[in-house]
Amino acid sequence: MSTPLLQLIDVHRTYQIGESTVQALRGVSVTIERGDFVAIMGASGSGKSSLMQILGLLDTPDKGDYLLLGQNVNTMTEDEQAGVRNNIAGFVFQQFHLLKRMSVVENVRLPHIYSGLKGDFRQEAIERLRQVGLDKRMDHTPNQLSGGEQQRVAIARALLRDPLIIFADEPTGNLDTKNSSEIMKIFKELHEAGKTIVMVTHENDIAAYADRIITMRDGVIISDERRAGREPVVPATADRRFDVHGVKHVLWQDGRFIGFMTQAFQAILANKLRSFLSVLGIFVGVASVIAMMALGEGAKASMQEQLKSMGSNMLSIRGGSAKIRGAAQGAGAVARFTFTDVDDIATLKSLVKSASGVVNGVGRIVYGNKNWSSSLSGVGYEYGNMRATIPTVGRWFTEEEIRKRDKVAIIGVTVVKELFGNSNPLGKTIKINRINFTVIGIAPAKGFSGPQDEDDVVLIPVTTAMYRVLGKNFLSGIFVEVTQPTLIDPAKSAIDVQIRKRHRLKSDDDSFNIRDMTEIQKMLSSTTQTMSLLLGSIAAISLVVGGIGIMNIMLVSVTERTREIGLRKAIGARKGDIMLQFLVESVGLTISGGVIGIIAGVGVSFLLAFFADWAVKTSIVSVVVATAFSALIGIFFGLWPARKAADLKPLEALRYE
Ligand code: ADP
Ligand code: MG
Repeated sequence: MSTPLLQLIDVHRTYQIGESTVQALRGVSVTIERGDFVAIMGASGSGKSSLMQILGLLDTPDKGDYLLLGQNVNTMTEDEQAGVRNNIAGFVFQQFHLLKRMSVVENVRLPHIYSGLKGDFRQEAIERLRQVGLDKRMDHTPNQLSGGEQQRVAIARALLRDPLIIFADEPTGNLDTKNSSEIMKIFKELHEAGKTIVMVTHENDIAAYADRIITMRDGVIISDERRAGREPVVPATADRRFDVHGVKHVLWQDGRFIGFMTQAFQAILANKLRSFLSVLGIFVGVASVIAMMALGEGAKASMQEQLKSMGSNMLSIRGGSAKIRGAAQGAGAVARFTFTDVDDIATLKSLVKSASGVVNGVGRIVYGNKNWSSSLSGVGYEYGNMRATIPTVGRWFTEEEIRKRDKVAIIGVTVVKELFGNSNPLGKTIKINRINFTVIGIAPAKGFSGPQDEDDVVLIPVTTAMYRVLGKNFLSGIFVEVTQPTLIDPAKSAIDVQIRKRHRLKSDDDSFNIRDMTEIQKMLSSTTQTMSLLLGSIAAISLVVGGIGIMNIMLVSVTERTREIGLRKAIGARKGDIMLQFLVESVGLTISGGVIGIIAGVGVSFLLAFFADWAVKTSIVSVVVATAFSALIGIFFGLWPARKAADLKPLEALRYE
């Protein structure tokens, strides 16, 4: 005699619920041959389902052996058992266990995605539906079908992988007589076509379809009868090779991952509102990352632009200590520079291209009945080129005007706006600190540098400023343009030595300081860096909060879909499959949140640029970073729920209410 299909030897199964134990099976031995049609009968609670679940590899015995085609099932790993379920078993449950959000044909196709086989099995699924007479309804959802039709779909699903054996636990338990007999007719046909069928029922007229009736009571078999003349119909076809390791299991096989993606998006779309709410956090986080990075980049770029317009070879020499700037006026000694210093510095020919003294003060400017107060700078001839302030409207001072202390002024655009509105200021006479000046030019617009309006300025010749307007006989500072950027450091030390010599200062005297633009640049960029870091961490926090939101939703989703997970495991999903399914889902959620976040972030950046006139610069980097980060968050926060789902036992998951 050939190896029996199934063989149980003295199998025990005990359930533990808190303190009490229930002995569901106490020593069951049974052999089932290929081609048999077995009905397991008995009163409720007699252990029928327990026996069936062990036979179907949904549960394992506590004691005793189970040989499947001669191989011991107890020694197989969980994943190997899942492979066996997918390969040789088909399940039909009392509650049908169809996935509501999928169409009929998708439901029937489901076991295929866990088979490790190529192809989409759609044709096979349609063929199975034809077998149960439902091919016309393949695009309906389970909710649109009657109970009997749903059970027929479940049978088609059980048949998809052409199993050796079909396990049916009270398949007609939820159906009326008419539907029941239709279902039983299908089982009869399947049996005649060579399928082995093991069915649990407690109704005699259902059991009458079977060839062999096993009756149970209190966890043991009390009778096992075969109807006369109904020997198992062993099919002529050769035994399908049965090897648990035979089906290679590749998670990333082509098409397979796409299958998971489709399923994930179906699940996400099935709960549109909830999915949307759960990605809000990610959405806000990503949008703010994008917008903030755009702002930060924009600020940096405009600052660099400004620095460039100031000239990168520039040195600024001021009285007072570098360390206590601002407070320097009152505290400590302050070196007072004069034109002699400027001329001296200009003699350092190989290092210094030009040097120009400036004097700063406040100017009260009057034009007609209008009053305005702005910062007043007395500047030398070289200043125009050095600081890129040569007017495009009007002209720069002539050397003669500067020498002769002429009363001519160049005003910034803010001053123009305040005093002249839309009329042309060129050639007009204004009063600066009660002295009449002629406007000869408008300084090019520079915008803001920090809080300071660089266009709220009035420039007049340095000599006029010192001797006529401000009444000072020393300069506020000296600007020096170095011949080459590489010579900035030698120039600084040469100038330092020269000033110390002329003013008879010791080497540790800090009554003046020389700054170059790289320092200013460094200072500014470190400020912007701190800002971006701050903004970035706020955005990161909101992303993490968003991730926690995703995790919560995924945990709810796992609990809610426990029975779905049970079903998937029953039809052959391995741990890794379930894990991947939920991970793909959470990553799908976070990435969708990320994508709409990116769109919103870019949109906000443009609006800011457009309406608030802020400098913004959206970078590809920020888009990539935001996408990658949201995917990572999906993986990280999806891991726990996915594990939870993957660790569920098929049996317990199927029973979950
Ligand atoms: P039947 O299918 O014949 O109605 P079952 O095999 O489902 O019977 O159950 C047999 C006994 O085991 C019953 O007393 C039932 O309460 C108990 N039982 C079944 N499954 C579980 C379980 N998962 N946890 C605890 N007790 C269980
Ligand atoms: Mg039962």
